[in-house]
Amino acid sequence: MVKMQPRRKTPKLRPSTRLHGPELRGLADFVPQIVWMCTPNGDNIYFNRRWVDYTGMTLEESYGEGWNRPFHEDDREAAGKAWSRAVETGEQYQVESRIRAADGTYRWFLMRGEPIKGADGAITKWFGTCTDIQDMKQAEQLLLRSEKLASVGRMAASVAHEINNPLEAITNLLYLAKQSEDMESVRSYIGNAEAELGRVAHITRQSLGFYREQNAPTLVSVQRLLESAIEILNAKIIAKEATVEMRWHMDAHVSVVAGELRQVFANLIANSLHAIDVRGRVELRTSVSFNHANGIRYARVTIADNGRGIEREVRHKLFEPFFTTKGAVGTGLGLWVSKQILDKHQGTIQVRSRAEGPATGTVFRITLPLPALREESL
Ligand code: ADP
Repeated sequence: MVKMQPRRKTPKLRPSTRLHGPELRGLADFVPQIVWMCTPNGDNIYFNRRWVDYTGMTLEESYGEGWNRPFHEDDREAAGKAWSRAVETGEQYQVESRIRAADGTYRWFLMRGEPIKGADGAITKWFGTCTDIQDMKQAEQLLLRSEKLASVGRMAASVAHEINNPLEAITNLLYLAKQSEDMESVRSYIGNAEAELGRVAHITRQSLGFYREQNAPTLVSVQRLLESAIEILNAKIIAKEATVEMRWHMDAHVSVVAGELRQVFANLIANSLHAIDVRGRVELRTSVSFNHANGIRYARVTIADNGRGIEREVRHKLFEPFFTTKGAVGTGLGLWVSKQILDKHQGTIQVRSRAEGPATGTVFRITLPLPALREESL
């Protein structure tokens, strides 16, 4: 006879194990993030214990609009604007900002807020979190610095290469001048050597300018920066026998850290030169566009090539750090750094590419906001 085992009942969630106010509060205090709640019109009504422990502020000080006091003064306005926009539109709130700790030091946080809606679709509350992203920010900074070092190395190699040719010419011309007894020829050799020396001096000035630039943004010509990026890549252009076409529809002046934007252009042009076959084509275009929605004018730069293109499957990874298809010669940081630099300047970067079919190629398009209209910005 088979003995029936008494059937075990699935334990039901008894009312006493449902989460009540104090337990919910305990749970919210336990999570490693700062948790907050706001009314539909944006006033704070709740913070978990992490906020109090981290900022050293009392809850009374933090409620209402008090929460924005520990925000770093350089980030406060942007965070406040993003919050007002979210409250107005009912869209998700997301912003990065430094927040002051009780000991006066600052750490980077990612703030996120979601509107909670009732049955009628109206917002009843905002739930949000602040996540400590300080370590991630530091790692990003380190990466940026290491890419800058790598680009200095690459640039040093290009400069050495560029200088080597005129130096060889000068050595030969001086040798010929020493051998020659005809004063006319000697003069001509020395004249040519002088011209070559001029080239060396020009290259040196260029590269010194590249590294001695201050970090403050200045008003610079987009066209001039593109031209100087090309000058730096001259050796590569010659090696590929590439045609570099430039179409300046309009020269715009943007307010940027010149060395950084030149680095962006040099990265993109170097990628194009790498992607094309021998005697391939790279096209650089500039224009100015006007966004009627926000009333801002933008400088547009297009860097297009007829190279091998980028496979569809990897396009979404392009701007991730370390993504490279170049094996040991690539760092996979060029596009990532370029994106960081453009973000910093409120710019954008987009890519279109075709890797199959008879006409392959890649087009990168950059936009940068122009300062308010004035005479010299055109
Ligand atoms: P790296 O050049 O060191 O690989 P990047 O971030 O500059 O790093 O580029 C990442 C990858 O994007 C490259 O390895 C390449 O596969 C692809 N890529 C970028 N630009 C182009 C281009 N113009 N044509 C084809 N592939 C490109």
